[in-house]
Amino acid sequence: MVSAVEATNEFLSRAMDALELPANMQEILREPQRALHVSVEVDLDDGEVHQFKGFRVQHNNIRGPYKGGLRYHPGLDADHAAALASLMTWKTAVVGVPFGGAKGGICIDPSKYSDAEVERITRKFVQGIAPIIGPTIDIPAPDMGTGAREMAWIMSEYEKFHGFSPGVVTGKPVELFGTPSRSEATGRGCWKVTEAALKKQGKKLKGATVVIQGFGNVGAHAAAFIHESGGKVIAVSDHNGGIIDRSGLDIPALRAHIADGGTIQDFGSPEVISNAELLLLDCDVLMPAAIGEVITGDNAGDLRCELIVEGANMPTTPDGDSILRDRGIMVVPDILANAGGVATSYFEWVQNLQYMLWGVDETRGKLDKLMAGAFDAVFDRADERTCSLRDAAFILGVERVARAAELRGIQ
Ligand code: NAD
Repeated sequence: MVSAVEATNEFLSRAMDALELPANMQEILREPQRALHVSVEVDLDDGEVHQFKGFRVQHNNIRGPYKGGLRYHPGLDADHAAALASLMTWKTAVVGVPFGGAKGGICIDPSKYSDAEVERITRKFVQGIAPIIGPTIDIPAPDMGTGAREMAWIMSEYEKFHGFSPGVVTGKPVELFGTPSRSEATGRGCWKVTEAALKKQGKKLKGATVVIQGFGNVGAHAAAFIHESGGKVIAVSDHNGGIIDRSGLDIPALRAHIADGGTIQDFGSPEVISNAELLLLDCDVLMPAAIGEVITGDNAGDLRCELIVEGANMPTTPDGDSILRDRGIMVVPDILANAGGVATSYFEWVQNLQYMLWGVDETRGKLDKLMAGAFDAVFDRADERTCSLRDAAFILGVERVARAAELRGIQ
């Protein structure tokens, strides 16, 4: 199995070769511009001092300030973060928001620490990365293991030295200049591109059968919007497995059941299946919205969908992707499909810089327009070059970043 770094670099190399970029430009675009490692020493509740490792990888800022999540995870490593930072550079470029790409976090399992400890750890981490973040420099956001709470602490720690700066992070609590529609935005973007891709296949979302792996932030919101538009979500899953109802699951009822403490498995569906089986279901749309590397050389030949919409980051390995290309299965790639989150982060940042607050309908409307426009741009590029949507998305993103580099005088 190839690593995330190798997979990203393979997709990137294909695009750079297609664009015939010179070797020096290829090197500039491949390598992160900066990686800062920080030692986070904190007094724990028992009085012991503990050291955590934290870092921030800044891949590229040629088109705008670095942008990307902060992850709290014990297995976090700088190489993986570098691959995710690179993906952010291409994602922000594909959807045309004026940001670059970054990623970072702390090697920690936050569930093992008290709220007060996580707050102290977060504030100490901010002191470490403060010299390289800021509303016009690098704007972190939530990722695995972090959320609005951590963003509020980061903003408040940063403001001790810089004054009122809501634009230093996105994904903040709504009461602290966050955007109400941020939590639904990635799922909403997935819904929007699903609708657009089906239309290109001569189909309608109404009545289309959809299978979604992962029923967290991305999967559950995407399911809700698809259901609302008349799409038939016939199967969903979480890390414990999935359920099917071929007549279409009642998504609002399932979400209410989960909000009441229930699980997918005890929802009372006619059939319970494994995650591996779920991926092979016969459907119009398969949306992997959980983890990476689930569609591989081993199962890509057996998928029975006509469209894949990548809600998760890097759910398809390069060998899996090559089989899907040969089979003519349309794939809306992660850097386009799940960009609704970063696009809405951009809207949050814009409001913060202007001290303005927009309503939910205004933000949703802008997101829908942006996602539909980005899909069309990628689709047209794929048409022009007779290539997959993934290749087209990378080509478009890389072209925009390379052109900006050229105009800035970096060659
Ligand atoms: P989440 O933690 O809210 O939900 C993840 C879901 O996946 C849960 O239902 C979980 O049970 C399930 N899951 C975990 N491991 C699994 C496994 N081995 N097999 C099947 N299901 C499994 O996470 P999220 O925010 O919904 O993110 C999902 C994916 O989308 C991740 O790859 C993330 O990087 C990507 N993503 C998220 C956002 C965002 O705004 N949340 C933006 C871009 C990309």
